Amino acid sequence: MEMWYTEKQTPSVSLSLKTTKTLHVEQTEFQHLAMIETEAFGRMLVLDGMVQTSVVDEFVYHEMIAHPALYTHPNPKNVLVIGGGDGGTIREIIKHPSVEKATLVEIDGRIIELSKQYLPEIAVALTGEPKVEVKVEDGIKHINESKNTYDVILVDSTEPVGPAVGLFSQDFYQGIYDALKEDGLMVAQTESPFFNGDLITSVNKRLRNIFPYVKTYLASIPTYPSGLWSFTMGSKKYKIEDVDINNLYSIETKYFTPELMLASTKLPKFVQDLVKGE
Ligand code: SAM
Repeated sequence: MEMWYTEKQTPSVSLSLKTTKTLHVEQTEFQHLAMIETEAFGRMLVLDGMVQTSVVDEFVYHEMIAHPALYTHPNPKNVLVIGGGDGGTIREIIKHPSVEKATLVEIDGRIIELSKQYLPEIAVALTGEPKVEVKVEDGIKHINESKNTYDVILVDSTEPVGPAVGLFSQDFYQGIYDALKEDGLMVAQTESPFFNGDLITSVNKRLRNIFPYVKTYLASIPTYPSGLWSFTMGSKKYKIEDVDINNLYSIETKYFTPELMLASTKLPKFVQDLVKGE
């Protein structure tokens, strides 16, 4: 008998994937967690019924949340990830030679443990990497306790439900601003322009209240709702458009290129309108 996993992405849209195995299911202290194996996208982490990452398309998300920030900052040394317990974002960060320390602050320790067990190619940098520190605690608490500390902060959060609601608030963004050094910058994942336009508008407004430079950019991620995903940067000083792409060191990637980084900031008209709040 065929088995299918269906994610109800909106009240009227679902994504269905043929599954070959259910590897693990549990209710953690914070969320419902499932590790499943699918025919088209390989192993997948699903939280509260929403796909977080799949072995086949994870490279797009993890490269695009990390590399634009780490190339826009000319000398990122101390980098923080809030959420991201699967480890993919940390794996990308430590490809940058200037990075001396990458800290992961994930609220749910089970995500880290089960990602190491079932998604080793994604979680590869979470063990035995001297530059990496892993902390199991609430990202909001960590941000409130950090001042003038980080060059780059990446918010690799779940959707704005449950423990992640506060990770999209004005207070949290102000906390990030204070936790960054005087020329620091941040990037947050900001959901689908087709299904979460209001969120993109409100994040842009909130960040513009705080940061002089705010830029939303896009990437194509097939297992995420609508397949088109947004990220938003808030920066105190440096801008993506000012990066001299002819003078960058190279790192190994599958989706990201410096040219694509610039192109990803050129938004379709309806996304330009969301960003402006129209
Ligand atoms: N790539 C994914 C996506 O956009 O669908 C997100 C990755 S997922 C591993 C995000 C992680 O954020 C989850 O493991 C969740 O436990 C964590 N998280 C949610 N709220 C948090 C908080 N307040 N502090 C730290 N981590 C949090």
